[in-house]
Amino acid sequence: MNSNKERVLKNRVVVFFGPPGVGKGTITTRLAKEFGCRTISSGDLLRENVKGGTDLGNQAKKFMDSGGLVPDQLVTRMVMAGLEKTEGCVFLDGFPRTIVQAKELAAYLEERNWKLLVIDLEADDEFLMARLTGRLVCGNCGAIYHQVNLLPKKEGVCDVCGGGLYRRADDHPDVVATRLSVYHQQSAPLRDYYQELGLMVTLRGDNFLDKTLAAVRDVLVNIS
Ligand code: AMP
Repeated sequence: MNSNKERVLKNRVVVFFGPPGVGKGTITTRLAKEFGCRTISSGDLLRENVKGGTDLGNQAKKFMDSGGLVPDQLVTRMVMAGLEKTEGCVFLDGFPRTIVQAKELAAYLEERNWKLLVIDLEADDEFLMARLTGRLVCGNCGAIYHQVNLLPKKEGVCDVCGGGLYRRADDHPDVVATRLSVYHQQSAPLRDYYQELGLMVTLRGDNFLDKTLAAVRDVLVNIS
């Protein structure tokens, strides 16, 4: 079964698109291994750079802290460098977020003769605000929990790897409000762009996790 899934997704990028908190990180973390894909999360890569005090991290930090987008050129270069090292299949979490980024990605994929599919996840702002302001993240493996809906077995400890859980600074309500508004203004127009190209499937991101995972699996196994 597994090798079949891997074959189906060969030389393909699957973009997980949608507003902050819709579940892109949770879904890619849960399904990447099953489908033999590598996940590249632009947010995770940026946070690693901030933590490591790199030039990129220092330039990106102020945008991330405020809930705004990091300039296209910085993010695109970083994600492309990740794609360069990859063969097979990639899940992209959080990239592209602007039309400029989408066009760069399209040019790159065309050059490599790779296919693209966009899974667009949707949920309303009120739901996303509640989800993000209660979110807990494992500092070690990145697994995601929620203080009400998805509790770890032991408080403050990751079920997967035993790492400590923390709250992201940008999950503060004021910053979440900015992130949602940035999504509507700068990222949501990408839905029309991908819709017109016939590359996008839209699914609800506010169902129970198992239902959402089943819906995404269904799209991925039936991909042509
Ligand atoms: P995320 O973990 O995807 O919610 O991203 C966290 C933050 O990183 C965002 O609020 C942005 O500041 C920045 N970021 C992540 N991906 C991108 C992107 N594709 N373009 C611009 N900024 C990004």
